[in-house]
Formats: sequence, C-alpha cells, structure tokens
Amino acid sequence: MFFDTHCHLNAEHFVGEVENIIEQSQQAGVEYILVVGFDRQTNIDAIALAEKYEHIYAAVGWHPVDAIDCTNEDLIWIESLLSHPKVVAVGEIGLDHYWDKSPHDVQQTIFEQQIELALKYEKPIIVHDRDAHQAVYQTLKKYANRGLRGVMHSYSASSEMVKPFTDLGFMISLSGVVTFKNAKVPKKVAELTPLEYLLIETDAPYLTPHPYRGKRNEPAYVALVAEEIAKIKELAVSEVGKVTTANAKRLFGIEN
Ligand SMILES: [Zn+2]
Repeated sequence: MFFDTHCHLNAEHFVGEVENIIEQSQQAGVEYILVVGFDRQTNIDAIALAEKYEHIYAAVGWHPVDAIDCTNEDLIWIESLLSHPKVVAVGEIGLDHYWDKSPHDVQQTIFEQQIELALKYEKPIIVHDRDAHQAVYQTLKKYANRGLRGVMHSYSASSEMVKPFTDLGFMISLSGVVTFKNAKVPKKVAELTPLEYLLIETDAPYLTPHPYRGKRNEPAYVALVAEEIAKIKELAVSEVGKVTTANAKRLFGIEN
C-alpha cells in the first residue's frame, strides 16, 4: 500500500535491527522501500539490502555535504553500480548550502558529474537540496532538455517553487516534516502539489513524524506521512497510498 521512497536502513543507527524493522514496516502496509546510499559504505549496504529483500530497491550516489571526499575512482565505481538490476536511481545527490564541509563549487561539480551518469544510464535522480533552492533549480533546468528526471527528496523549498520544479518533470517527495504542527509551508506544498506529482518518504532514521518526533524514525512511519497528506487533500489514505506508490514505481521503473 505504501512506498517509502527514501530511507537509510543502511545507516549505522539500524545495525542488528534491520530485519525487525522491515517486518514492522510490512505490518504497517509498506509494500516497497528504496534504500538510499550517500557514501562508499552506505552504497555497498544499500545494494546488499536490495539483494536480500525482493521488495527493497537501492539508489547509489554521493552526498553533497561530503562532496570534497568524492574521488574520480569513486565516481567510476558508482557508474559501475548503475548496471545492477536493483539499482533504480542515482542519489542522494545535490547541493547543501547549510553545512560548509564542502565548498559550493566542489558540490556543484560532483552533483553535475552524477547527473551525467544518470543521463547516461537513463536513471532518475534523488535530489538533496538544503538551503540551495535556486542553485538546484538552475542546475536541473540546465539538464531538463536532455531528459533528466527525478524527485526533490524531503522537499523544503517554498510552495511557489512547486510548479517550477514539477514543470521540469520533477516529483515532490514529502517526509515526516509535513506532520509537524508548525510546518505551514510543507502543509501548503501538500495541498498545492497534484497527487500525481507526490511521493512519500521517511528519510529514516531522521525526520521522525509526529507523534514520535525526537525518536528514531523507521519505514513503518511512512503511513503517518500518507495520513497527513490524506487529511490535507481530503482524500482517503488508501487513495494517497495507491497513487503515490504508482508514481514511485513509474519514476523508478519498477514493474511488478
Ligand atoms: Zn537521505
């Protein structure tokens, strides 16, 4: 019924508990999970999980915060992973102007090099955008006419930016942030974005939805994101689950 399109079961927070957490998510109606890599070890672990579980898929990529650590060999290696049958996207990639570990120009280069890989292998991208909305938008726009597709993960830009991003063909993914009482903008984004352009995610172990805020997040809680969207859009939760799952399967090229 639900597709958690962005989680990090490959993060150290879940060591030794992954099996239980997956079981609980299935009981909560989570039908598919996309585990997203962000550096060497997590890319390896994302693929290992996708190989072990039929309903789990992997995305591989290099996170912008750590762009400075990404070598040419790493990019060649990431390219080699894109032919794996369970790797359905390049991500997470993007720009992060909040943390200053990697200079903006280095982030930009690593972002665009990975966009080129996505285009070459006809994969969608999973975009991390923190405090870099305009720069991300301009970058995506530059590649739009070459058929670049993807999703704005845990969308955090303004409600006015929804249309420009969806006009580029990008999907809007909402996380647990939309459930926070003071989250005016994400709620407005949920209201304005056509259901056909929405995905849901947890970003577990981060961004835990209300009423579990402050605890570790897990894929089962993606149901709470769907419930909030259903409330805002005045739809049945099952309808939100059905359409966002179909959207994700279409974007990531998942057949069954
Ligand atoms: Zn993430």
